[in-house]
Amino acid sequence: MKPQLFTNVKIFDGTGAPTFIGEVLVEGNLICTVAPGNGSIARESYYDVIDGKGMTLMPGLVEAHAHVTYSNMAKFNELGQIPLEEHTLLTLQNVKLMLDSGFTSLYSAASAKFRLEVAIRNAIDSGKFPGPRMRAASPELVATGGLGDERQYHMHHQGFEVIADGTDEVRRTVRTLVREGVDTVKVNISGDPFYGRHGFGHRLSYTEAEVAAAAEEAHMRGAWLSCHARADDSVKLALKYGFRVIYHCDFIEGETYDLLEAKRDSVFLAPAIGAIYTAAYEAEAWGITKEFAESRELFAMIEGCPKVYGELKKRGLRILPGGDYGFAWNPIGTNARDLEHFVNILGFTPAESLMAATKWGGEIMDIPNLGLISDGYLADLLLVDGDPVENIKLLQDRDNIKVVMKDGVYYKRLIKTAGMLEQLNAREAFA
Ligand SMILES: [Zn+2]
Repeated sequence: MKPQLFTNVKIFDGTGAPTFIGEVLVEGNLICTVAPGNGSIARESYYDVIDGKGMTLMPGLVEAHAHVTYSNMAKFNELGQIPLEEHTLLTLQNVKLMLDSGFTSLYSAASAKFRLEVAIRNAIDSGKFPGPRMRAASPELVATGGLGDERQYHMHHQGFEVIADGTDEVRRTVRTLVREGVDTVKVNISGDPFYGRHGFGHRLSYTEAEVAAAAEEAHMRGAWLSCHARADDSVKLALKYGFRVIYHCDFIEGETYDLLEAKRDSVFLAPAIGAIYTAAYEAEAWGITKEFAESRELFAMIEGCPKVYGELKKRGLRILPGGDYGFAWNPIGTNARDLEHFVNILGFTPAESLMAATKWGGEIMDIPNLGLISDGYLADLLLVDGDPVENIKLLQDRDNIKVVMKDGVYYKRLIKTAGMLEQLNAREAFA
C-alpha cells in the first residue's frame, strides 16, 4: 500500500495531552511522522492523502479484560453447550466485531475452551482472518466450588472453567496450558459473590500453596499470570507471587493499597465494571432483579469503585478499561461503554480514560511501540467522527468510527478517499 497521509484531523495521541490539529503519515505498518498544523508534512505524489474533515485520529483501543469466546450468554453453562467447531466460528465473528468497534488489541481475561484463543490468535497473526492483536489466555483455573465451577452432582454442566485442585493438578494444568501456547494463565484466586455461600467474594478459593504452584510453573515457562481477585487476601497473594494483571480488587483494604503501590510499575489492574454495572441495572430481563443484585453485592461493588480506584489512581497504578463483555446484558461489541464507566464511576477525565485504553493498553500488551500516535509507533489508528474527549460516548456507536487501521492495514473505511479503489483492504477481502 502507498504511504497514507492523514490530514485535517484532530489528533488525540494517547498520552492524555490536549488534542491538536495536525497530520500523520503512515508508511508500511508504522507511523513515521506526526506534525501539528495542516500542510506541515511535505507531499509526495505517490502518497494517498486522506482528508479527515476535522474528525479525530486516535490510537486503536485496547480491551484489557476481553472474553471473545463468550457467546453473550445469560448463564456460564451455556458455553459448555457449544461444540468446539461452532465455538471457533463464533469467536472469529467476535474478534471481527471487536475490530469493527475500534479495538485493535485484546488482552484476554480467559478463554472458554482450552486451545480456542490460541488458535484464533494464530489465525489472526497469520493474516488469514481479520481481528485485533491478541494476548491469548487459558480458561480460568478454578478450584472445586470456586467461581466458574458449574458442575453438579449427578448432572453434567460445563462453563468456561478448567477445574484444578491441589498443587499437583494445578502444576500439571499450567504446564499443559503453556505447552499449548497460551500467553497468559488465568487463576480464580478469589471467591465471588455469584458462587458459594454469602461472603465468598471476600474469601480465597485457592490456598496459598496452590497459587504458589501455579505461579512457579507459569514463571518457569515464561507465561504471564492474571487473576480473578475480589477478596483482599487474593490481591495480596497475587502480588506476592508475581501476577501481572489483577482483576477487580473490590474488597481491598489497609496495607494492600501500599503493596499495590509498591508494584505499580509491574502490575496492571482492570476493575471490569461493565458486566457488574449492566447486571445491576439492566439485566432484569435475564432474571437479575434488584433484590438478587443486592444479595450478590453488585451495588456495593459499584459504590466501592470511586474509593478503591480513586485511591489506586492517586497512587499511580495503571487501571485499564475492560469489562467482562460477552454476557447477554453487556454483549461483545459494546466494550467502549467501559470508557464512560471510567468517567462516571471511577472519576477519570475523558482524556484519562482514553489514555488508559491506549497508552496503558500498549503497555499491557507488552508491545513497546503500541498505543500512541507518535513517530515509530505501530499504525493502529481510528478515525472518529467527533471528538471522544468532548463526548466519551461517541465510541459506543460503531458508525462513528469511520476508519479502523491495524498494523498499517485498513480493516474498516467508511469514508471516500482518493486512493480507495486501488486498495483491496482486508475487511473487503474477508467480507
Ligand atoms: Zn472476566
